[in-house]
Amino acid sequence: MGEQNKQESGLAVPKKAGRDTARRIGVHLSTSGGVWTAVDRAREAGANTLQIFSSSPRTWRPTSIAPKDAEKLKSLRAEHDIGPMAIHVSYLVNVCCQGDEVLQKSILGLRGEVERALALGAEYLVLHPGSFRGMTREQGMALAAESIARSIDGLPWQDAGLSILIENTCGAEFSLGGSFEQVGELVAVLKPVAPVAVCLDTCHTHVAGYDLISEEGYAETMRLIDQHIGFEAVRVWHCNDAKAARGSKLDRHQHIGEGTMGAEPFRRLLHDPRFAHAAFIAETPVDEPGDEARNVATLRALAAR
Ligand SMILES: [Zn+2]
Ligand SMILES: [Zn+2]
Repeated sequence: MGEQNKQESGLAVPKKAGRDTARRIGVHLSTSGGVWTAVDRAREAGANTLQIFSSSPRTWRPTSIAPKDAEKLKSLRAEHDIGPMAIHVSYLVNVCCQGDEVLQKSILGLRGEVERALALGAEYLVLHPGSFRGMTREQGMALAAESIARSIDGLPWQDAGLSILIENTCGAEFSLGGSFEQVGELVAVLKPVAPVAVCLDTCHTHVAGYDLISEEGYAETMRLIDQHIGFEAVRVWHCNDAKAARGSKLDRHQHIGEGTMGAEPFRRLLHDPRFAHAAFIAETPVDEPGDEARNVATLRALAAR
């Protein structure tokens, strides 16, 4: 797709029309140059919702966010009606880790994530439930709940409008949340501790073995989501095509419509009235400049037909 077409598809997004019913479609964006710059990037990408990291996702060293940057982000979001905003928790955080040192770092790390999410006025904090290697799944689940409770203890959480979203994983051994059933169990365990809901990732769902592609498979996958999680609890769909085969348990994201899933599952999800309340956020690769806008445009086009 040429630069001109990218521009046009970005501009084709209806500005205000149907604000209440229009799908919230966005992409994970960089905050390079200041956290608020992500809102500008969202607008450039034709997105009306976004996800960011609030700190480097691969180091334990936390970034502090200047209050004026947080205010600028909030006012830009309000001005341009960009939301909800999700923050993805650092990949290093593992709230059900058997090793004490990493567990302590994870609890402090998650606490920092929650503090920054509160400061930035984010709606969602997306968390991978972690790896329980060395324990039973039940022990891992209990430890995750305890660690999250410790992370948020004493923070001004009430009425902040922030929820932790448990993301389903690709079903690898020892990783918590590889099935809808596990995600549902975890949410039930965490409910008394924190405001929790769910983020489902299309790529993770597909490589975990669920069928989103065939019509009957999609219906069955939806039945399982309803049974174990509930449609209402799904606040975000991470929209990623997959490089690996269904059931492979390999987490490699691909551009929408260009992977082993193809465009059809995304078209179905975007038109599914049971997810009318959800935000659709791509975490697709950035192989060349403009790829964020290209994937948003693809999702918008699928939502429109
Ligand atoms: Zn994801
Ligand atoms: Zn992934």
